[in-house]
Amino acid sequence: MAKRDYYEILGVSKGATEEELKKAYRKLAIKFHPDKNPDDPTAEDKFKEAAEAYEVLSNKDKRAQYDRFGHDGMRGGFGGQGGGMNMDDIFSQFGDIFGGGGSPFESFFGGGGGGRRQRKGSNLRIKLKLNLDEIANGVEKKIKVNRLVEAAGVTYKTCPTCGGSGQQKKVVNTMLGQMVSASTCSTCNGAGKTIDKRPPGVDSTGLEMSEEIIPIKIPAGVSDGIQLSMSGKGNMAPGGGIPGDLLIVIEEIEHEDLKRDGNNIVYDLYVSFIDAALGGSMEVPTIDGKVRIKVEPGTQSGKILRLRGKGIKDLNGYGKGDQLIHVNVWTPKKLSSEEEAILEKLRESDNFQPKPGKGEKGFFEKIKEFF
Ligand SMILES: [Zn+2]
Repeated sequence: MAKRDYYEILGVSKGATEEELKKAYRKLAIKFHPDKNPDDPTAEDKFKEAAEAYEVLSNKDKRAQYDRFGHDGMRGGFGGQGGGMNMDDIFSQFGDIFGGGGSPFESFFGGGGGGRRQRKGSNLRIKLKLNLDEIANGVEKKIKVNRLVEAAGVTYKTCPTCGGSGQQKKVVNTMLGQMVSASTCSTCNGAGKTIDKRPPGVDSTGLEMSEEIIPIKIPAGVSDGIQLSMSGKGNMAPGGGIPGDLLIVIEEIEHEDLKRDGNNIVYDLYVSFIDAALGGSMEVPTIDGKVRIKVEPGTQSGKILRLRGKGIKDLNGYGKGDQLIHVNVWTPKKLSSEEEAILEKLRESDNFQPKPGKGEKGFFEKIKEFF
């Protein structure tokens, strides 16, 4: 069957304004609403057809595309004949065309899905502390969670109030005449079933608290405050339905020596001015254990050495950070008279006079280079 023209479906002219489209669609949606036409099997198709036409024509870009190319221009957007929109998509339109709360249509449309939507259990949120090593390389953790699950020994029966549909229908009088109102069933809260038998100690939700150990893979590169979500690992919903999610909020434990700066690790290294002058080999902590680095003779205080790839793996997979070693030359705070005498001999020595060359960058140049 060939598709009908969208303008024809809504009964408006090609030049129809947004307001005219809305009005026309509102009229058709009410006329063909499946709840209002239980004996007319074609009503739902017409209802969907109108919804699809409105979906396209109410969108400026889609409408322009449709005006130029007709239905061919719409391929991919919809699932072919009859429209790919499901009832939930259609109901989500109604917030727009019928307005929000207080409208007489809200109960008629079940508040945008109402009983059609399954109940969802509540989310659980836990904090997870990670040290720098775990953050740098990713880690697998087993988390202890107390969550509501279906209690053993509970049996269910079809809800006697709604007969399992999860919706209660009643006829209401509105300014447009009588309409069937569908709202979430107050007995089963939309689940469609109620508890038949429950063992002593289980309350009317049919759920009980259970301690579970849930394994979770933490990707490398997470940071303080990031929230990871495991869908379906939250509390279960009473009477079936979709379980809530488990939300894991990351907390960083500060490292004793290493500081994090984005994906880089920063370490302050202190060397004596003897080592700075003569050069030497130093032990430096990294997230993968200790490494030895070489300090060149004549190293200035403030020099930054880079250990490439010794930083944190990027959360989005863009490589790895580095470890930056900030060299601080340690000036002795107290000296013996013998030490003083040795240094005093060197005071006037030409090599001890500061002569910063082009290679010795000042503080601001260094900052620019690294950040
Ligand atoms: Zn019910």
